[in-house]
Amino acid sequence: MERDTRNDRCCFWREAEAREGMAHFPRVTDPSMTGGCLCGGVRFELTEPAPAANYCHCTRCQRRTGTGSSAQARIDGRTFRLTQGEELVQAWRHPDGGFEKCFCRECGAHLFSRNPDDPTQMSLRMGAFDGDPGVRPSWRTYVEYAAAWEPVPDDGLERFAEGRPRF
Ligand SMILES: [Zn+2]
Ligand SMILES: [Zn+2]
Repeated sequence: MERDTRNDRCCFWREAEAREGMAHFPRVTDPSMTGGCLCGGVRFELTEPAPAANYCHCTRCQRRTGTGSSAQARIDGRTFRLTQGEELVQAWRHPDGGFEKCFCRECGAHLFSRNPDDPTQMSLRMGAFDGDPGVRPSWRTYVEYAAAWEPVPDDGLERFAEGRPRF
């Protein structure tokens, strides 16, 4: 029996494109504004450089990435669009809520997360960019939960015991 996956997909950008007429944006070729997954099936682009970034040390990010923290650029979802592989993008949301985590179902590469109630709020994984996105992580969240085997570095970045208040 085939599973109906239609509702699993992150299809908000299609709706956004239809609404905003984004389909007519010129293609982006700057590697600081493009990226994709490990297998190359999923590709994305930004219409504006990522404005901010952080490290998240929460236990969900540790599980999700298999590492001590997640480096992520905070972007306005309206500046983001998939250019290839929408059918490969799987969204998963924790039963307790929070942002949807979106990854490639073929290769497992994590790509971005988004607030399902407000698609303008997105985090793009820094490692998913083709080139240097320009922005640098400037704060650390959920440092209370940092992995015992990887202490939070003394790098002077602003730290938050839990999440950072909305800005
Ligand atoms: Zn992939
Ligand atoms: Zn996290």
